[in-house]
Amino acid sequence: MASESRVIVFHITDKGRDLGRLIVGQWPGSLSTRFSAQKVRVEWNRGNQLIFIMATGIVVRTIAPLLESKQADPAVVVLDENGSYAISLTGGHIGGANELARKVAEVVGGKPVITTASDVSGLPAIDLWAQGQNLIVEDMKRVAVAGTKLLNSGSLSVYTEVILDLPDPFQLTRDTELADVLVTDRIDVGAQQGKKLILRPRNLVAGIGCNSKTSPEEIESAVQTVLQDQHLAFLSLATVATVDKKGDEPGLVAFCQRHSLPLRVFTADELNAVPGVTISDAARKAIGANAVAEPSAILALEGKGDLIVPKQKIGNVTVAIARSASPLPFPHKEQQEATEVPNGTLYVVGTGPGNADCLTPRALRAIEKSSAVVGYGTYLDLIADIIADKEVVSTGMAQEIDRCRRAIELARQGKTVSVISGGDPGIFAMAGLVLELLRRDSENGESIPEVEIVPGISALNACAARLGAPLMHDFAAISLSDRLTPWETIETRLDAAAKADFVIVLYNPRSKGRRGHIEKARDIIARHRSAETPVGVVKAAMRPGESFFFSTIGSIPFEEIDMQTTVIVGNSKTAIWNNRMITPRGYEKKKAW
Ligand code: SAH
Repeated sequence: MASESRVIVFHITDKGRDLGRLIVGQWPGSLSTRFSAQKVRVEWNRGNQLIFIMATGIVVRTIAPLLESKQADPAVVVLDENGSYAISLTGGHIGGANELARKVAEVVGGKPVITTASDVSGLPAIDLWAQGQNLIVEDMKRVAVAGTKLLNSGSLSVYTEVILDLPDPFQLTRDTELADVLVTDRIDVGAQQGKKLILRPRNLVAGIGCNSKTSPEEIESAVQTVLQDQHLAFLSLATVATVDKKGDEPGLVAFCQRHSLPLRVFTADELNAVPGVTISDAARKAIGANAVAEPSAILALEGKGDLIVPKQKIGNVTVAIARSASPLPFPHKEQQEATEVPNGTLYVVGTGPGNADCLTPRALRAIEKSSAVVGYGTYLDLIADIIADKEVVSTGMAQEIDRCRRAIELARQGKTVSVISGGDPGIFAMAGLVLELLRRDSENGESIPEVEIVPGISALNACAARLGAPLMHDFAAISLSDRLTPWETIETRLDAAAKADFVIVLYNPRSKGRRGHIEKARDIIARHRSAETPVGVVKAAMRPGESFFFSTIGSIPFEEIDMQTTVIVGNSKTAIWNNRMITPRGYEKKKAW
């Protein structure tokens, strides 16, 4: 990341601007600009290296919501206005901030301030070393454990199955039990694997042949199956190889893109020149090559290893695996771009009941990462200040299918897109629709973007919290909207839930077009519950204009209920105490009560 990214300098004062100019003059491709949180977000998401000439406090507060992990965060260096100190703040190793702080300090004649322990001790940083050796860390938490061992004892024992450069404090061992670090592509090495730092060399090539229109999921599952059968780690997969005619096969391209794997292609003549491979009549008929999976895997190794798993046929896919003796380099940027299809990421984000403090940091981050936001007007209004700079696609309530289609299209164009739902996106909202549409698309052989469902605080959480603790025991959530569900089904479920003594959460209780539903629902529930059963009614929970009150099944004031309201009907044990609704869990039967 560090090598391709640009250096961006942010300044606030004139003095800072002058210092920024000095730095930019020394850095080809860099840029100095006046500070704004907005610009920082953009450059952060681009993975650029960031230098701030201002107080550390401003920087910490600005980047706090953007921080993800030490692997993902970019380099952040803070410089005081006199250029006396260049503090490496985040992304010290992988992001390159320590190196950047040293260089900046040199340019402005100040001192670098570096606090990562391995740098201070003069010992090698395990994550940087692993990256330099083209090794993938399987579990980042174990890096810290190994790092502490290295700092305390001054050495680490390394077991490796590939050729590596080992810095002095790392000692080779042949004993997997004694090793602190295991460098292997096998998943069955070392009984105590769970305790060790496992680094995966990128040394496997999968030669793949497939029928046209095979889905990326089918290809992925075939590759996973073959690797698992052979006890090989998926993370060690470095390259995918195939015949040139399959170079733009959508499923194969999507699979490679999903895992950032380069796709190497060879002509039929090149493949036919590889000796000793199993010949396939089907392949010869379809594409004129004697075989695809085995010879393409062998060719991609460029003589540095052998075929270790002969061709396996699983459904529409053939897979062969070859292994290189030394880790293969990570793909170069140009190669990566050549295999990239323009598929972005689709977040389906729950924004919670309304107020900004009920939006989770994860949801906020997804929205901030997105260049386009798709949603229903009211929900978008609630997050207006976060999405001011984005492409906004807003449609009315009843056009959910159009909205989701539009979001999928934008993601296919390579954009990062958030589909916004109030509350939780998977509760009477958009997540299911997005997945159903994608499922149809993929069955039609279309590529699908990466999707993440980002949960939110649902109305039932927010409203229950306002009322007290009504959902302490089994509950059912039922929507009274019959726009997509036949009313008879709703009646059947209300009756069943009431009969089984569930606490009942009623979503969409009453709209202008459906004024009578809530009363009908009450009548059904009343068949199984006494008229005194407590009912909690919450309007606009955790958003402006909030209100709530308690009532009973026998006396619900229906006219107070609208589409911004959720109604919670207690079970036979639910009681009101001190303006709080409590459904007992059963603690009162315990001895300690
Ligand atoms: N996905 C949403 C639900 C969408 S259905 C969620 O998880 O909350 C819309 C219904 O949710 C509304 O008619 C209302 O019954 C309920 N609702 C949503 N937000 C609410 C809020 N802030 N206060 C009370 N009810 C709410």
